[in-house]
Amino acid sequence: MGRIAQACQAAGRDPAQVGLLAVSKTFGADAVLEAVAAGQRAFGENYIQEGVDKIAAVRAALPGAALQWHCIGPIQSNKTRPVAEHFDWVHTVDRLKIAERLSAQRPDHLPPLQICIQVNIDGGPTKSGVAPAEALDLVRAVAKLPRLVVRGLMGIPDHAPEFEAQLAIHRSARALFDQMAALGEPGLEHFDTLSLGMTADLDAAIQAGSTLVRVGTGVFGGRTYPAA
Ligand SMILES: *Cc1c(COP(=O)(O)O)cnc(C)c1O
Repeated sequence: MGRIAQACQAAGRDPAQVGLLAVSKTFGADAVLEAVAAGQRAFGENYIQEGVDKIAAVRAALPGAALQWHCIGPIQSNKTRPVAEHFDWVHTVDRLKIAERLSAQRPDHLPPLQICIQVNIDGGPTKSGVAPAEALDLVRAVAKLPRLVVRGLMGIPDHAPEFEAQLAIHRSARALFDQMAALGEPGLEHFDTLSLGMTADLDAAIQAGSTLVRVGTGVFGGRTYPAA
């Protein structure tokens, strides 16, 4: 995406430091295959069953392709098993119980699951994510689980139309991330990922220091959701 390169240039950042997670929710395996052909390797899915089915379809079409699948949707505790068995990353861990189940259910033949802790950066009362003040305790607890690796933080701030407002909230996420990364504690050796920014706010997220933007519409076009 040219927009990431432009945003990096505006922010004085090296584009190699900002990854693109292509959010393929609601799009079929064919759209993923097209993106793979164009060089994309990391894909994000929100809905677990849809994601598991798509992973299987893409794997059947491209056996042995080194793709990464990231779960970026909410996870109820009775849905952890398919996530542990099929995904490579999870961005939406916001309580210890979910992390414990993911660790226990991660199959031995797979590498550890890569985890971002979801933080409720702007403090909306109805939103998922651990409160910023409680995030470090959760990071430390998750870091002790044997089959998980803590990679960083993830945030989904409420949409703010103004660039400056987006920037301020993304900067507070970056500050929290930097504090934790600077601790250099055992278990945080791989704490290198700040998953922040979507199609509407990726410029501000990159300016603030995101290392991984999650882009759906900007990669695949508009989504149509099936009627409920
Ligand atoms: C859908 C979604 C995205 C991508 O949103 P776009 O606005 O299409 O870029 C990113 N992150 C999460 C958690 C999402 O649910």
